[in-house]
Amino acid sequence: MSELVIRGLRAVIANTDNEILRGIDLTIRSGEVHAIMGPNGAGKSTLSHVLLGKPGYEVTGGTVELDGVDILGMETWQRAQAGLFLGMQYPTEVPGVSLNDMLAASFAASDRDSEDLDSLIRTEADRIGFDHKFLDRPLNVDLSGGEKKRNETLQLGVLKPRIAILDELDSGLDVDALRMVSQRVEAATEEDQLGVLVITHYSRLLEELRPDQVHVLAKGQIVKSGGAGLADELEETGYGEFVSDDDDDDAGKRNLADGETFADMFADPLA
Ligand code: ADP
Ligand code: MG
Repeated sequence: MSELVIRGLRAVIANTDNEILRGIDLTIRSGEVHAIMGPNGAGKSTLSHVLLGKPGYEVTGGTVELDGVDILGMETWQRAQAGLFLGMQYPTEVPGVSLNDMLAASFAASDRDSEDLDSLIRTEADRIGFDHKFLDRPLNVDLSGGEKKRNETLQLGVLKPRIAILDELDSGLDVDALRMVSQRVEAATEEDQLGVLVITHYSRLLEELRPDQVHVLAKGQIVKSGGAGLADELEETGYGEFVSDDDDDDAGKRNLADGETFADMFADPLA
């Protein structure tokens, strides 16, 4: 039984006072699926980055514990060894390193027996309809968006983390691939008691990967939580009720002065 406990998490873009996460509270336990939905720019990917310790962000408040151990002071590889996994919104291309190489190195780094690794990788590829030809190709290089997402899902199946954060797992996947990938992750919640935090814009992903809870992230805070039905509701209604125009989103914009035209705002001041 594992538990990722996020309390009051606040983070800024490094070396700025641009606060993106403004107090996030969330607990993900083994076997649970939590979906995060929310408008573009809300901080969803930032949350995933901060949880894995991607450089470029600074945590300014709150705590994150995996099974009672503070992870915020850990390097990214230590967080991965502790059992955290990130499926990135935009998986990185790694020329010169194949998926096979990468998984073999992961196994070696954590002293796992890699004797059956090859057959495990092939079995996992088949479970999600991922062509074996990609296994020896450089990681993610020249893969389509959907192929990259299947690649990430294969890694998840092989590495068997405790808690997986999956950022827009559905982006780029065709309907059949989406079904296979979401079924694979759902199966991991049952077979391996995987805990999942999945970021998505579409309730279709959540037809196979059944969420225990759905959360709305807007402007760096979780503004609403509910059951699986909330995802359908949001698809109908959008996020209008959570994003108003009357606050600092308008910072930096200015209104026309008396007598000024729109074109004047863009006129060359030296002309
Ligand atoms: P989303 O909810 O769409 O995943 P993100 O977490 O990617 O949103 O981004 C939240 C906000 O933070 C956006 O306004 C984005 O432009 C900004 N942001 C994220 N990373 C950086 C960065 N490294 N430098 C500057 N701004 C950033
Ligand atoms: Mg994002």
